[in-house]
Amino acid sequence: MTAERDDTVLLPGATLGVLGGGQLGRMFAVAAARLGYRVHVLADGPDSPAGQVALRETVAAYDDATAVAEFARSVDVVTYEFENVPTPSVEAAAAIVPVRPGPNFLDMTRHRGREKQGLADLGIPVAPFRVVADPASFTAAVADLGTPSLLKTAEFGYDGKGQQWIEADSDLAAAWQAVEGRECVLEGAVRFDRELSIVVCRGANGDFAVYDLVENEHVDGILDLSTTPAANVESLQPEAAEIARTIAEAYDVVGVFCIEFFDVAGSLVVNEIAPRPHNSGHLTIEGHHVSQFEQQVRAICGLPPGSTERRGPVAMANLVGPGYAENATSWSRAVDRPRASVHFYGKEGAPPGRKIGHVTALGDTPDEARDRALAVRRSLRDC
Ligand code: AMP
Repeated sequence: MTAERDDTVLLPGATLGVLGGGQLGRMFAVAAARLGYRVHVLADGPDSPAGQVALRETVAAYDDATAVAEFARSVDVVTYEFENVPTPSVEAAAAIVPVRPGPNFLDMTRHRGREKQGLADLGIPVAPFRVVADPASFTAAVADLGTPSLLKTAEFGYDGKGQQWIEADSDLAAAWQAVEGRECVLEGAVRFDRELSIVVCRGANGDFAVYDLVENEHVDGILDLSTTPAANVESLQPEAAEIARTIAEAYDVVGVFCIEFFDVAGSLVVNEIAPRPHNSGHLTIEGHHVSQFEQQVRAICGLPPGSTERRGPVAMANLVGPGYAENATSWSRAVDRPRASVHFYGKEGAPPGRKIGHVTALGDTPDEARDRALAVRRSLRDC
């Protein structure tokens, strides 16, 4: 615990600023509204998923530091719902109001090279990696790490975008062309048994709250299904919590973050950190007494983290558009399923392959929750 902290608590009626207009900002705004806070969103286009439910939406480019500073003057605290806000913009906001989590954490997590190095410096296991800046360093990195290996753009990658598998030396030229010469990280392939994640919250007073590990299944690099509790995590849960605490304290994080792990024969290797709520934590909205979004509200407002107690086994299935709830029959039937909740993010007309919503379901067992979430997802497509 740190003694000299700003222990100012923002009361209901205060205005919370969110950089980013996506679904994470939308669910944050709903949680904030329930607690009586006003939300002002800065998004790079009008009618954003978050802007649709916030009190106010400013439309500006994320690299417009002047607009971000003006936005910061209209709010009591700033948080963010994606990590690609440029550092000068975040620093412009931080000069005016608290930005939570702080710019130091955002700066580390937004760049895969800095993130991996930062974790390795804390003694936390990560995949073997090399930062790659040009064809020569790329060739040297492949020689070092061998194949298969995975080339990832250092910044602006999400849902498996900007990633190229290298199976043989003959793949190098095409892979380098595909990343268009951007700075990258080459990672050795991790032969994992499964993917897990953990969402945690650290309050301004240093109090720490940890959710249970979630098991994640991906399709085409996009998260498809999350379930908690995960099986056989008795020793992994304290290990994951300890890794999270080490990171939170090293970066003095105030807010919510998520760590994605590979489970390699019963040991955890960190894949990446999201310095904000995460898709695998959406199931906390109905599955837990306090959601990850309420935790984010609490932390940035100077309140203590809430309970991470679960209501029961819970699963979440993503809706990757289009094709869901496109007629009255499927929509009416899907919302009529007991112990399940459907979320849409207000992204009508989004290009195919985007996450447009999700389904959460509770069950008596994790398998039952999973089957129910999948059944509701199917029913959203049926006529
Ligand atoms: P990321 O964008 O880093 O989360 O990667 C997307 C997905 O690619 C992960 O969820 C894994 O399924 C897979 N992946 C990423 N990095 C590695 C790695 N080093 N070895 C094996 N699979 C990986």
